[in-house]
Amino acid sequence: MKTKGNMTEPIPIDPAAGRSVWRRAAVALGADRWARRLWGGRGAILMLHGLKEDGAADWQGNPGLGTTIGRLTAVIETLRAEGYELVSLDTALERFASPKLGARFACLTFDDGYRDNYELLYPLLRRLSVPATIYVTTGFTDGWAPAWWHGIEAALSQHPTLDVELSRRTHSFAATDPAARDSSFHQASALLRNAKPFTRARALTQIEREYNIDFSAISQEKMLTWEMMREMAASGLVEFGAHTVTHPVLRGLPQADARREMLWSRQRLETMLGRPARHFAYPYGDPAAVDAEVVALARDCGFASAALAYGGPLRSGASLHALPRIPFGGDDSTDDLRVRLSGLKTAFSTPPLVYH
Ligand SMILES: [Zn+2]
Repeated sequence: MKTKGNMTEPIPIDPAAGRSVWRRAAVALGADRWARRLWGGRGAILMLHGLKEDGAADWQGNPGLGTTIGRLTAVIETLRAEGYELVSLDTALERFASPKLGARFACLTFDDGYRDNYELLYPLLRRLSVPATIYVTTGFTDGWAPAWWHGIEAALSQHPTLDVELSRRTHSFAATDPAARDSSFHQASALLRNAKPFTRARALTQIEREYNIDFSAISQEKMLTWEMMREMAASGLVEFGAHTVTHPVLRGLPQADARREMLWSRQRLETMLGRPARHFAYPYGDPAAVDAEVVALARDCGFASAALAYGGPLRSGASLHALPRIPFGGDDSTDDLRVRLSGLKTAFSTPPLVYH
């Protein structure tokens, strides 16, 4: 207990503290290296999103969507120190298919197409000679569809409350203090993510009108331009993959709509960048967003690979169209990375969505 004046108040318990102590201990004892020998697979595909300067203090509704330059540099150094070769996605998949066992490989992938991928990531990749794949939601760049969660972030930053009208119900969210704002962002995002596209679009229009928020402008400002993508693609260091047009939950969408989302985003990328877009990442990429039908559709659309947002290291038996990835973002440290690379957590689960 700590005392403050005459009052005695409990020390708040950080639920992440226990986990991080366990991770630090596991890494200090070398348990992750032992586990990696058994369950670390052939390599790993990391999933990241945006990048920010060290010490940036902007509020992010979903902190997992960003990591700092310092943390990403530490990730790259850790991978290299542990003997991973940093390769492009094409090379990673070639190595994965080859019966010859070589050094472990790691591949960096970034979802959504954030502008900081050009401003901050690209210089870092060049400096460290590391290739990467960026999965682009083409409608964000074109302004046809907004990365609406950033509009929700803006509304909760600028207003003490947010009312969302969904299916004739008003959902009220408070942003009166930082904890309430975090929780409101989380709840409002879940609600909107799970709404049908038309219902969500109507709710966003209502928010735009009532709170004077321009979702498309906010979104476009945060996302890459075609010019930036062309420059990065020409360097040979960055490859672009598709991530749909509007970033919907594909699971449960009418099949024709899901197919259109996949094919149109690929066609748009190929037209605008003048090179093939062979790879795809499922929006959200979790079991609630991707089922066997969606996986079959991605294969049917002719993508060479389609990536999930979970699943751990790339072990034999993994399907190219349910490609497991290791997420990294927010407060994740290199200890978290080491534990995830070890495959400890995923060793005893069957590979995700294997439907050959
Ligand atoms: Zn995404």
